[in-house]
Amino acid sequence: MKPSDHSNANSHLNHPLAEPDCFKSGLSPVSSGGQLTDTGALKAAQAFSFRVPPVFASLIDWQNADDPLLLQVIPSAKELIIPEGYTQNPLDEHHYLRVPGLVAKYPGRVLLRLTGACPIHCRYCFRRHDSFGDIPKEMGEWQPALEWIARDTAIREVIFSGGDPLMLANGQLAELSARIAAIGHVRRLRIHTRMPVCSPGRVNDSLLEWLTSTNMLTFIVIHVNHPAELGREGCAALGRLADAGITLLNQSVLLKGVNDSVDVLEALSEKLLQNRVLPYYLHLLDPVAGAAHFYVDESHARQLVQGLRDRLGGYAVPRLAREIPGRLSKKVLEGIHNTG
Ligand code: SF4
Repeated sequence: MKPSDHSNANSHLNHPLAEPDCFKSGLSPVSSGGQLTDTGALKAAQAFSFRVPPVFASLIDWQNADDPLLLQVIPSAKELIIPEGYTQNPLDEHHYLRVPGLVAKYPGRVLLRLTGACPIHCRYCFRRHDSFGDIPKEMGEWQPALEWIARDTAIREVIFSGGDPLMLANGQLAELSARIAAIGHVRRLRIHTRMPVCSPGRVNDSLLEWLTSTNMLTFIVIHVNHPAELGREGCAALGRLADAGITLLNQSVLLKGVNDSVDVLEALSEKLLQNRVLPYYLHLLDPVAGAAHFYVDESHARQLVQGLRDRLGGYAVPRLAREIPGRLSKKVLEGIHNTG
């Protein structure tokens, strides 16, 4: 099931713009500049639909075809060019699927794929071709995953992933996390989500109530690539999470035309820190089919991170990392620590 095919009752999303809405809205350049009127772009949108929630859409300069937020979400004919080495499943994630919904790749932690749905469709997403067919639909179907976690006493951390795990209702999240917390050796819950910034209304009282009531230490890893994504509402949502005592980290993907400059990355780190979010990872692009036009090579990436180190204290510089299938951890290309 593709992310958009899985939309459930999420009133906070307030009708994310889907492709036809976008045409109707008359938003340029989508309707007038021709990106989606271009046959190639339409074909790309058929393979992985256009989806952007209203708050993220409001931060886009729709008159600017090079807008860094627009580039992340707009289908492009460039997606049809698939160089050698780019595949539908670049991280071979299904190889590490132990029972439905549970990926165990690294020691000490497991990742639960809670949903295939997302509030936004990022064109560079390494899961963009994923069918998400393994994901449990009912709470009872999580039993094998819970038993798997219970058997491995070395597991200290469970990661809620997806799609975007915050597409699930708070009641479902609370029930599943309570069952995980009941397994004594799990101490930490990590949630990977783009929701607080791209659809900040999701950070409501009921979500905060759940997050603060679990007895696991809770981290939220947001996903922001450019400082312009941190609008007023998103920053307020981050403030609510930080005030509730949630540790906030950010991971970005290094994307050509979006954030491949020291100035942009510096501004991003500064804005994240202002909002009590620590820059955590800067990922090299995973070679997923359809995303090659975003690729920034490793040597340029290293130069960018060095440029950041020359300007910022060590804690403000994200780790440059690359996922390599088969490794027991991400390959960190540059450490986070600086002497500054
Ligand atoms: S990058 Fe995250 S939010 Fe974007 S489409 Fe992929 S899973 Fe969804």
